[in-house]
Amino acid sequence: MSVFDELAGQSRVVSQLQNAVAGAMTHAWLFTGPPGSGRSVAARAFAAALLCPFGGCGECRSCVQVRAGTHADLLLVRPEGLSYGVRQTRDLVLRAAGAPSGGRWLVVLFEDADRCTEQAANALLKAIEEPTPRTVWLLCAPSAEDLVTTIRSRCRVVTLRVPPSSDVAAVLTSRDGVDPARALDAARAAQGHIGRARRLATDPAAAARRLAVLQVPVQATSLGPALAAAAALVKTAEDEAKSVTEQLDEPERGALRQAFGEGSTGKGVAKAMRGMAGAMKDLEDRQKSRATRVKRDSLDGALLELAAFYRDVLMLQFGAAVELANADRLDDLRRLAASATPEATLRRIQAIMRCRERLTFNVAPLLAVEELTISLTQG
Ligand SMILES: [Zn+2]
Repeated sequence: MSVFDELAGQSRVVSQLQNAVAGAMTHAWLFTGPPGSGRSVAARAFAAALLCPFGGCGECRSCVQVRAGTHADLLLVRPEGLSYGVRQTRDLVLRAAGAPSGGRWLVVLFEDADRCTEQAANALLKAIEEPTPRTVWLLCAPSAEDLVTTIRSRCRVVTLRVPPSSDVAAVLTSRDGVDPARALDAARAAQGHIGRARRLATDPAAAARRLAVLQVPVQATSLGPALAAAAALVKTAEDEAKSVTEQLDEPERGALRQAFGEGSTGKGVAKAMRGMAGAMKDLEDRQKSRATRVKRDSLDGALLELAAFYRDVLMLQFGAAVELANADRLDDLRRLAASATPEATLRRIQAIMRCRERLTFNVAPLLAVEELTISLTQG
C-alpha cells in the first residue's frame, strides 16, 4: 500500500513525486489540472510521502494523520470565503515560518491558490521568495496561468490529467469495495472526478441528487414545468451544499469548544468561556462565508452535470463513438436526441454556460436558473 494508490491514472505524476521525495527537494510546488483531475488528492499524497518516515507507506501513524488532516506538520488551507484575504494569508505565512515539530518538513497545502486576492498573493510570494529551510509549499490551481507569473516561476509544476473512468472505477473497487459495474457508472458520471465518483457510488443521497438534476431536461418541456424544474434544481444544489457544510461546521465548533476547555472546572474557566464567545463568533462568520461559496460551487456543479447530459445527447445525435457520462440514463438521452436537432442541443449547452457566467456576476440563483430552464423548452 502507498499513499499514491489513490491517484488513478497519473503514473507519470506519481513517479515525478516519488523521485522528489527520494531526491533533492524544491520548496514550492504547483499542482495543476482541470477540476476533478485530483490536484488536491495528489498534493495531499505528496505531503503524506514527505512526512512519512517510510516515504509514504499509507499505513503508519503519520500517514493516517495526514489523511485525517490532523498532522501537526501539515497546514491545510482552503479559502473559507470566496477568496483569501490578506490577513488570512499573513497568519499562514507566519505559521509556515516555524520549524517542523517532528520530521524533516513542515508542509503547507494551499488548495485553490487561484482564489487569492492580489494582496494575499503578494504575502504568499514573499514567503516563497524567501523560503524557510524546512517548509514546503504545495499550491493547487486549475492551471499555472491562474497564478501571477512571479509565483508560478518559483514553483515546480505538477500537471495532472483527467483520469480515464476505468482507472477511477478500479480505485473505487479496490479501495472502497464498490461493485465494479456500479463503480464504472459512478466514474463515468463523475467524469473522472474521484471524490465525486466515490460519493455517487457510496452515498445514496448524492446519487439521488444527481438523478434529480438529470430530470431537468426531461421535465423542461413548457413554461410551468420549466419553472418547477428551476426551483427543484436550485433546491437540490442547496441541499447538497447543506450536507457538505454540516459535515464541516459542527466538528469545527466542537474543536473550538474543546480548545477553550469547555466542561472543565477550576480557576480561569469563566474567563476562558468569555474569550470563547468571541472566537466562536469569528468561526461562525467564516463558516457563513464558506457556506455561500459551497452553495455557489454546488449549483455550478449541477449545471456542469446538466451540460454533460446535453453533451451526451449531442454525441448520440452525431453518432459519435465516445464514452457517455450518463450511460445509465440512456433511454432519456435517446429520447432527447430524437426530439431535437444538434443545433438546438448546442444552443441548450450555450444557455447553460451563460447561466454559469451570470451566476458569477451574483445574479440571484433562482432567477438565472429560471431563465435557463425556460430557454431549454425552446426547440
Ligand atoms: Zn507512512
